[in-house]
Amino acid sequence: MVTNTASSSGLTGVALITGAGSGIGAATARAFAAKGVSRLVLVDFAPAGLKTLEAELQSGGAQVLVVQADVSKEAEVKDAIAEAVTAFGRIDYCVNSAGTAALGALVETSTEDWNRVMGVNITGVFLCVREQSAQMLKQDPLASDSTDPKRQQRGSIINLASILGTVAVPGVPAYVASKHAVVGLAKAAAVEHAGHGIRTNNIAPGWIDTPMTNNAHVASVLEAQTQPAKTPAGRAGSAEEIADVAVFLSSTEASFVNGATWIVDGGFTSL
Ligand code: NAP
Repeated sequence: MVTNTASSSGLTGVALITGAGSGIGAATARAFAAKGVSRLVLVDFAPAGLKTLEAELQSGGAQVLVVQADVSKEAEVKDAIAEAVTAFGRIDYCVNSAGTAALGALVETSTEDWNRVMGVNITGVFLCVREQSAQMLKQDPLASDSTDPKRQQRGSIINLASILGTVAVPGVPAYVASKHAVVGLAKAAAVEHAGHGIRTNNIAPGWIDTPMTNNAHVASVLEAQTQPAKTPAGRAGSAEEIADVAVFLSSTEASFVNGATWIVDGGFTSL
């Protein structure tokens, strides 16, 4: 007997991406648009970095809302979600990519650097997940994304963790601690919201070629431990290789993936 297993008819909802002005966030916005997402909310510190991307996505036919917000500030995150809902009525695929790092040995890490990294990488992700989840809990499942009712979702949230959320290297203690916390936060959100049709997952990239890593200071501290040549793949990953995983995890094709941290590292942590 042939069973109709059709589960996904596309990505018909609204995407919201933080850290959209650069690197993985920008590539994720492009990847959503390439898969047919026609309403996108781009959130970043500095809207200047978003102008080119906004124009590019609009020229492809998408409606784009650009929101300037610091994800570590509660009021700005609340306003960003409210603006998105005012513009598009709902949010379906959230990817929290805004992130930062501080370099230096643990005993030399200042409280200021610690608080800055924690403020963006974990408090910022917490604020986004909380406000995004609160909105998703109010909206109906998106029937147009799947013909299978049990796979329909109120929303998907993906946080950019890191392989440094599962292992550590010297020289980035606040980053390592913050990304381990992100791994736990997705699990906490998943167990609370799975029954409401909301999935929360992380992606844990290895060394990816973006403005964050493509800088001499970062490379001098981190590349010795995480250098592309040491990765079984023999190279750094591209932002597009992370973005494609984000799009898949956002779709109802990933309907049973929840609370997971997907390692995308060219085999680095398998060594
Ligand atoms: P990126 O190119 O530096 O992009 C990050 C973006 O987030 C930048 O536009 C940045 O703005 C913005 N941002 C920083 N703090 C913010 C805040 N408080 N509020 C709003 N926006 C803020 O970095 P990326 O490589 O794409 O990294 C994206 C995510 O992946 C980060 O969470 C990072 O930790 C994670 N990740 C990256 C790698 C890698 O190898 N690249 C590996 C593992 C995990 P400014 O440029 O103005 O600061």
